[in-house]
Amino acid sequence: MKFSDIPGHEEEKRRLRELVDTGRVPHALLLEGPSGSGKFALARAYVQYLHCQNRENGDSCGHCPACRQHESFNHADTLFTFPVAKRGSGKPTLSEDWLSEFREFITESPFMDFDKWLTALDSPTSQPQIFVEEGSELIRKLNYKARSSEYKAVLLWLPERLHPSTANKLLKLIEEPYSDTIFVLTSDKPSEILPTIYSRTQRIFVRRYADEDVESFLVHTGVDPAVAGELARMAEGSLTEALKLSSSADDGMQMLAIFADLMRKGFKRDLPALRKWANDMSTKGRERQVRFVDYCARLMRENLMLHTSAGKYVTTMTPEEAKFSVRFHPFVNERNVIALFDAMNDARRDILANGNSKMVFFDLAIKILMQIRK
Ligand SMILES: [Zn+2]
Repeated sequence: MKFSDIPGHEEEKRRLRELVDTGRVPHALLLEGPSGSGKFALARAYVQYLHCQNRENGDSCGHCPACRQHESFNHADTLFTFPVAKRGSGKPTLSEDWLSEFREFITESPFMDFDKWLTALDSPTSQPQIFVEEGSELIRKLNYKARSSEYKAVLLWLPERLHPSTANKLLKLIEEPYSDTIFVLTSDKPSEILPTIYSRTQRIFVRRYADEDVESFLVHTGVDPAVAGELARMAEGSLTEALKLSSSADDGMQMLAIFADLMRKGFKRDLPALRKWANDMSTKGRERQVRFVDYCARLMRENLMLHTSAGKYVTTMTPEEAKFSVRFHPFVNERNVIALFDAMNDARRDILANGNSKMVFFDLAIKILMQIRK
């Protein structure tokens, strides 16, 4: 993992780079910040930068032996410690027992989607942790000298999940560090870390991503630019959330993003943006256009039910739709529902009759917006 493989975070990267460049590598470094903000990826890039034999332009080179070992998760002086579930009986439970699953997981999900890790552990209901045996195992491994580099590195994911006795063992290692060993911890919930450990780390706060960063990341991964902006807003700064939203099995999520985008532009009375929205819609296939109109109808119906049932209606909406509807449902009511459904029926009929879809969608947008402002 190179710094350049990670979107944004220029300030965080600069600070990490500086620690290595100035030779002030801390024994215990903690990257803390919201989940999905790329902390573990930054930690990996930092350690690779530290080990790289040929740093260039503020990044690791990507092709020296150390970099190649890092890229294949086989760096001799890098250890991974992470929460796991019990496996089998009578056997100590170590990160090492789950290492091949973990490698697969960070390859597929470099921004560390915890739900995916639970699935990989095959115990979606358990609370994975870093068990007590891990402490002695680390001490045993760190007693060996570094093999190929100046520093051995322990990358510890989620110190908030350290079993208390593991945490105490680790504390000893952090208090009386081996001169050639560094710890890099990444935490979503720093307030849950044992305070004695927390206070002994040097800390860098990793901010949540700006919506624009998430949007360009999504476009970069191949998401339709027409919906990337809206999905990015819904992801609230988390790359893992954004990926989850963009890969939802059916495309309901994309439909919701298009609809929410339309409403946002409409409430701003931004006519040029609405025209562009209609143009974007006209580039989609006819079947998809009809599906979008049907989707609008379903969402309006659900919102009307929410509006009229005083909270008694059991909705069929997805959690994301329900979240959107909290603010949206007051706009669909007895006064405008007939006109709204007429507008959607007209649009559906015109699309199927091969009408000019730019006109059809612009017309639909204006009619919906006139109605929901009533
Ligand atoms: Zn290198």
